Amino acid sequence: MPHSKNFLLNRLDAAVLDRLLDNLSVIQLSHGDVLAETHGQVEKVYFPHSGIISCVVETIGGGAIETGMIGKDGAFGSSQALDDKVSLNHVVTQVPGEASVISSNHVRALADELPAFRGLLVKYEQFFLAQVQQTAACNALHSIQARTCKWLLRMHELAGDELPLTQEFLAQMMGVRRTSVTEVATELQKAGMISYSRGRIHIRDVELIRQWACECEGDVRSHYRRIFQSNEADAGP
Ligand SMILES: [Zn+2]
Repeated sequence: MPHSKNFLLNRLDAAVLDRLLDNLSVIQLSHGDVLAETHGQVEKVYFPHSGIISCVVETIGGGAIETGMIGKDGAFGSSQALDDKVSLNHVVTQVPGEASVISSNHVRALADELPAFRGLLVKYEQFFLAQVQQTAACNALHSIQARTCKWLLRMHELAGDELPLTQEFLAQMMGVRRTSVTEVATELQKAGMISYSRGRIHIRDVELIRQWACECEGDVRSHYRRIFQSNEADAGP
């Protein structure tokens, strides 16, 4: 079943998933697809099977920085569905992929009816908040090199070895100057950790990237395991 490619849907009891099936469909997410505007209405909930969705905070001066990543380990739109459906930031597809999608109204109705479903969505929101808090600490305390490696690790976990991203986009998402990312990327290339071609980053040595990264990605992964209390989260974020 395609929906089980998403870890949250995969964790649902068959009886609960059965109740969702009639309203779930599978869609393609393309790079740059805007899933929500800041303060806009969120009418759908997305459960990615692949690819990466980014939550981005925009500033008045035209700046933007990524504060959270959502992939096959999670969902976008579930907390909004349970509340007033308003997105607090800009949400965009960063790496193309596939997702199960369902209307926010259906999610709200089923969550009211099925405590196990509501519980799962709330747990994920706990994890997502932990991820955002870790990102805030990381941005303030860790070097651009360590942050770049952490960011590559997270993307590797969600999207594999081939990342269709430019250095410019990476700099934007990290909220740093392009030249800073270029310097770090050159170091990583020299060390054989990554390579570039035609606007794609290729991960060459994920273990070395892990050694150069700050501890934040490991901490986020341990939050996920703690919240879901399951070994299967090893394959998660
Ligand atoms: Zn960090």
